[in-house]
Amino acid sequence: MTVSEFDLITQLFADIGAPRADVVLAVGDDCAVLEPVAGQQLAVTTDTLVEGVHFFLDVSPEALGWKAVAVNISDLAAMGARPAWLTLALTLPSIDLDWCRGLARGLRRACDAFGVQLVGGDTTAGPLAITIQAIGLLAPGQARRRSGACVGDLIYVTGTLGDAGLALLARQSSDVVLNGAELVACTQRLEWPQPRLQQALLLSPCVHAMIDISDGLFADLGHILTASAVGATIRLADLPRSTVFAQACTRLQRAGMAVEAVYDLQLAAGDDYELCFTIAPARVAECARMLYQLGCHCIGVIEAQRGLRCLDGQGRQYTPPHTGYDHFAGRAQR
Ligand code: ADP
Ligand code: MG
Repeated sequence: MTVSEFDLITQLFADIGAPRADVVLAVGDDCAVLEPVAGQQLAVTTDTLVEGVHFFLDVSPEALGWKAVAVNISDLAAMGARPAWLTLALTLPSIDLDWCRGLARGLRRACDAFGVQLVGGDTTAGPLAITIQAIGLLAPGQARRRSGACVGDLIYVTGTLGDAGLALLARQSSDVVLNGAELVACTQRLEWPQPRLQQALLLSPCVHAMIDISDGLFADLGHILTASAVGATIRLADLPRSTVFAQACTRLQRAGMAVEAVYDLQLAAGDDYELCFTIAPARVAECARMLYQLGCHCIGVIEAQRGLRCLDGQGRQYTPPHTGYDHFAGRAQR
């Protein structure tokens, strides 16, 4: 049986995500029609996953569907926006129905988890790529911009850093061998990222600036510093580590891995999808309970002197060799 582009859409992508009251028309016409509550602002973002760049072909299509949605939800969360709608632009080399069903399952899981509805998209033939546009809702003036950091603010991150990077490194380097439990836990972080949406919505009223960590802490905190025209010092010993990450790194260091490689995983490997935010010291005491309950860790302070300084466990300045992922690094430019 041959399946057309239109069969694929109606069979797999027409009813993903619970129907929302603010959707007048979803998949099936030239456009979706949406009706936000009057006075709300829209936050709009898009992210593409490209085969060979963002994922290996052997990753499960279900994980891919989840991740394509999750990375966009993470951007909305970092803005303090409440996710509402998605569109999906799908480019497929051919129609593999089982693979597409898996993808649709992953998309559905994520849409259900984050309360969003898939309202439209485009389906074309070509090299495998998945592009999602996500739209969220904001009360006017509530967007948490990168430009809001102030000198004296404390810098916090949610969760733990480095797990996803370690999973990737273990795939790429034969010197980095993880045990079964470590590999499962770190690969879960890489393939099924959990955007910190609930944390973001709770933290948003308290913070000055917020960003999600997708390209690595060094690069993403760097964006806050540039946009806010400030600098910072962070303490590498305070970067939160998961139990499996700490355990794997201790063992790998005993086997000869340099401590710099551990710093590198936490600072520059990317794919963490945690939040990094800055908060005025006066508000920290007020929010202390929430910061603790949400698993946030203070890693440094915003300073007037521009640039990002990293202190190692002995208080010495450390300059990272890599500063985050740049898609065009090493490519010819005209
Ligand atoms: P048009 O040719 O008018 O752009 P299409 O034939 O591309 O319309 O799409 C038909 C309908 O299916 C539209 O409502 C579009 O938003 C939706 N659609 C197409 N591809 C997808 C997809 N991958 N996921 C969700 N909806 C899709
Ligand atoms: Mg049309």
